[in-house]
Amino acid sequence: MEKLAKQYVDNFMTQLIARNPNEPEFHQAVREVAESLAPYIVSDPVLQKMKILERIAEPERVVIFRVPWLNDKGEIEINRGYRVQMNSAIGPYKGGIRFHPSVNLSILKFLAFEQTFKNSLTTLPMGGGKGGSDFNPKGKSDNEVMKFCQSFITELFRHIGQDTDVPAGDIGVGGREIGFMFGQYKRLRDEFTGTFTGKGLDWGGSPLRPEATGYGVCYFAQEMLATRGESFEGKTVAISGSGNVAQYAAEKATQLGAKVVTMSDSSGYIYDPDGIDAKKLEYVMTLKNVFRERIKEYAERYPSAQYFPGERPWGVKCDIAMPCATQNELNGENAKALVANGCICVAEGANMPSTPEAIAVFQSHKLLYSPGKASNAGGVATSGLEMSQNSWRLQWTREEVDQKLHSIMKNIHEVCVQYGTEPDGYVNYVKGANIGGFMKVANAMLAQGCV
Ligand code: NDP
Repeated sequence: MEKLAKQYVDNFMTQLIARNPNEPEFHQAVREVAESLAPYIVSDPVLQKMKILERIAEPERVVIFRVPWLNDKGEIEINRGYRVQMNSAIGPYKGGIRFHPSVNLSILKFLAFEQTFKNSLTTLPMGGGKGGSDFNPKGKSDNEVMKFCQSFITELFRHIGQDTDVPAGDIGVGGREIGFMFGQYKRLRDEFTGTFTGKGLDWGGSPLRPEATGYGVCYFAQEMLATRGESFEGKTVAISGSGNVAQYAAEKATQLGAKVVTMSDSSGYIYDPDGIDAKKLEYVMTLKNVFRERIKEYAERYPSAQYFPGERPWGVKCDIAMPCATQNELNGENAKALVANGCICVAEGANMPSTPEAIAVFQSHKLLYSPGKASNAGGVATSGLEMSQNSWRLQWTREEVDQKLHSIMKNIHEVCVQYGTEPDGYVNYVKGANIGGFMKVANAMLAQGCV
């Protein structure tokens, strides 16, 4: 069986790479899933005959478009916009929009592919999608960001809708950008619907949506730690990133009794051995969300902290690591350093932040390790709750949403344990999440025929 499964993965990947050349991130994400699923697929003639995985790895639709806009000097700038509509077997396409100069088709296809499994794991009726642009919001005025968002939506509006495709935020897209995009969408469509999530509280947003991804990562890590009789209490936590996910992961970890000692951005990281407590975190939030400044300012304000330019925080001694910045930000060497420093748990807030080599190190040392598609699913789950509230034209309280988020994260953890427990008792959360996420999508695709 093992040989057959390996052969299946090799053939499948050879074809996938030939069909999608020069898309390394997409290949990486698909290979991980194919390796988890291969033993199931080779033992199930129906899954093979119906080519379920082959179809899941082919986007239902990809839209690529020109985004022209005028900068503050009155000059024309041109960016490229994308929406990858990956899979709608269990609900409308759902996934964030990323604005970052690195955005390309490979990155968006990997994200949309991961999203399909993640959304399925939440148990909510959402298909998978992802979009974005190579637009760089850094250093742009509010006016320029608005003009870009309006031009982006002037094309995208015809491809999305509350029952078709519901975008949200991601790297470089927060409340400000969602507001500009929603405003232009509403104007072009002449209707007020829940086509975007991550909206402001006063105009259809859900309580706790900004916090949901970071809080969800901590709720998931709590469940993992509990399997070994551990908790956040008294633990030291290293976090990368200082954006939406990192900020709220830091807040919740601190509330749960841990000490967060690092945060970062693409220029470097800060290490504060005294801990980034609630007050210091408030400063980070203002620094990043209001002034859109760099994390190095933290070390200038708090003498207890040190700034390490151009470095990532994985060499710091910690019990729990939460990578919350971007893909492939934690490599095999970083993983070895974490293990050597006594880290027991790695809960991913970002999408695919650990390289395959890093994952192999974590798993061979039997760390509690969760892939982003399981532990960061709280964001999209709460987006799903925002969609429900919009359809009902009502708003739940913060407590109600938090309770639902908590129970969704617990449920995802249970699914991972159900499908990922190895014969020696070790929970392989990668396998658990991939198989758990696949089942529902595969069954829906089988029921819906060759579409
Ligand atoms: P933000 O834009 O709010 O923050 C991103 C953070 O990561 C910033 O600190 C940024 O630093 C840093 N970063 C971005 N690119 C790089 C890079 N190439 N190298 C090092 N650091 C980098 O994004 P989010 O917090 O929303 O997203 C972070 C991760 O979480 C992404 O992988 C995203 O896909 C994932 N995610 C987000 C969800 C959400 O609800 N927002 C839901 C699920 C997953 P700088 O300011 O210098 O760019």
